[in-house]
Amino acid sequence: MNCSENACFQYICTNIRGLQNYPSKLLEAAVNEFSRLPGVGRKTALRLVLNMLRRPISETERFADAILRLRQDIRYCQVCQNISESEVCSICSDKKRDATQVMVVEDIRDVLAVENTSQYRGLYHVLGGILSPVDGVGPEQLNIQKLVDRVASGEVKEVIMALSTTMEGDTTVFYIFKKLHSFHVPVTTIARGVAIGGEIEYADEVTLGRSILNRTPYDNAFTR
Ligand SMILES: [Zn+2]
Repeated sequence: MNCSENACFQYICTNIRGLQNYPSKLLEAAVNEFSRLPGVGRKTALRLVLNMLRRPISETERFADAILRLRQDIRYCQVCQNISESEVCSICSDKKRDATQVMVVEDIRDVLAVENTSQYRGLYHVLGGILSPVDGVGPEQLNIQKLVDRVASGEVKEVIMALSTTMEGDTTVFYIFKKLHSFHVPVTTIARGVAIGGEIEYADEVTLGRSILNRTPYDNAFTR
């Protein structure tokens, strides 16, 4: 048996073990459900289920209740499309925040990431993805029109684009820039450059080039 045959044999063995008969249909059903989650294979699912069986039933009840309530009660903010428990999220309804700044992000995880910096006091607009024709994501699938409507309302004085620095991200920024052009509201992008703690010689040319173009006064770079 050569190397590739051995790999194939190992693969089949693994799958045969994966199709094993579980001693209980209930166990199998739970494993099936857990393994539907992203990044969770059947082995991990079985480990999680067995772990749950070893814990007090009250913990499982809390777990199930949290998941069910998440699914039933959570909604999306009517203004920014962030996750919310009410029609308008806690960020949009916070009067201490600057409603004239709107940061455009791809999804809710980006809101969390920016909030964790404690450097931004404006509002957000969650697109729900970025333009990707290959994946069938066009402008209609994203919350772009709602952003245009927000800007058209006149309260927004700056739109800050904070999307991925990929071709799809850049395409989305350009598309939105064109859509907002007639409103004469400044559209900015977050800076792109050398990472904190990064060494210049290891930065790729595009990143280093952008860093030079987006250079900032020395005072600003360290005092904010
Ligand atoms: Zn909101």
